[in-house]
Amino acid sequence: MNACPKEAISISYDINGLMLPKIDQEKCVNCGLCTRTCPVNITVEKKAPLKAYAAWNLDDKKHALSSSGGLARAMYDYAIDNGGVCYGTRFDENLDLRIVRADKREEIEEFQSSKYVQAIVGDSFKQAEDDLKMGLLVVYVGTPCQIAGLKNYLKKDYDNLITADLICHGVPSIKYLHEHVEHLEKKIGKKADNVKFRGVYNFKMSLFNKGELIYCKDRWQDTYFTGFLESLFYRPNCYECSYACPERVSDITLGDFWGIGKEKTFNSPKVNGVSVVLPLTEKGLDFIEKMKDKLYLEERSVSEAVNGNDQLNRPSRLHANTSRFIEMYHENGFEKAAFESIKEDMKKNQAKKRKSDRLHLQAKVKWKIVNTFRKITGRGVK
Ligand SMILES: Cc1cc2nc3c(=O)[nH]c(=O)nc-3n(C[C@H](O)[C@H](O)[C@H](O)COP(=O)(O)OP(=O)(O)OC[C@H]3O[C@@H](n4cnc5c(N)ncnc54)[C@H](O)[C@@H]3O)c2cc1C
Repeated sequence: MNACPKEAISISYDINGLMLPKIDQEKCVNCGLCTRTCPVNITVEKKAPLKAYAAWNLDDKKHALSSSGGLARAMYDYAIDNGGVCYGTRFDENLDLRIVRADKREEIEEFQSSKYVQAIVGDSFKQAEDDLKMGLLVVYVGTPCQIAGLKNYLKKDYDNLITADLICHGVPSIKYLHEHVEHLEKKIGKKADNVKFRGVYNFKMSLFNKGELIYCKDRWQDTYFTGFLESLFYRPNCYECSYACPERVSDITLGDFWGIGKEKTFNSPKVNGVSVVLPLTEKGLDFIEKMKDKLYLEERSVSEAVNGNDQLNRPSRLHANTSRFIEMYHENGFEKAAFESIKEDMKKNQAKKRKSDRLHLQAKVKWKIVNTFRKITGRGVK
């Protein structure tokens, strides 16, 4: 859509609710630019990580509003501090998730936190190109396919462009999220104007109305969130994603550091909210260096980062009930289709969560008793 010189492409939705480009044949001159820009047709050059870091934002408030380490926020802050512009995601008034431009600090807060749904790129590639040509520092964060689309669109590298791609499970259609939110709104009797999926390593589906929390459920108690995490309903191309591998398309890759401590002990003061940061280019490495006074940064091995994170190795696998979900979706809509296809996973994961919460609580109580005994007696306890 961004590449078309005749503005012949618009975005529409197919019967499965998937966002697809629609070409107006009256306007189309068959120049082929769209197929040469599409990141699924033309794969962008990928590079192996130069290094791997475990990292988080040293500003506790900014860190707490993020999904893992608050690294995206640190990148945006650097851009704003240096007169640059930022591209990130924000829900609009219709709860459509859009990649938009921001050049003020107060605008970038909304970009923080992962939104587990496909974002609409809109004309953000065109806007970013205008900013780049004006010589502004541009920080553009998105999924690997979005960054690949941007690179294919720009056709050349710019010294003033810093891209970061997210390690990505896959994205569902915004239609599914809309139907789910409408279902919840009917139950609650209130309209939602914002959706949140995560705090720091805290996976909860939350709905808000003018800042008031009107719904909050653990990931395994919510049909949409469980369906997302269990790979039930991504776009079909996500299951064959050529970007879900250790070699990456941008300057920096950001994700959760799931495998931390598996190769070498991690003596960190934080157990939660640790991001994996992979510089792929010298520009990316240099940018991390520029942000370093704002970050806790510890070099780890690339193999520890890659081995601990499935989506740095392969695309998500299709759920056994995906075809069933699609069939039911046509007949019954999202809520019933998702619930019937995912209810066993919800039960299983809730049982697992109860067990891990119990073990966590037991460990906490034991630790408290031992510590109290130590304080009273002055003796160590085994
Ligand atoms: C759909 C999706 C799937 C993910 N899957 C994994 C995974 O399997 N493994 C893993 O390690 N990490 C995954 N992540 C990345 C992870 O959730 C964090 O975003 C990442 O660790 C960066 O955290 P942060 O604290 O630096 O940034 P945050 O404060 O979380 O900011 C996130 C940045 O991502 C952008 N963003 C948020 N949602 C979207 C979206 N839907 N599309 C495009 N850009 C978006 C925001 O605009 C912002 O720039 C996923 C993220 C998304 C959006």
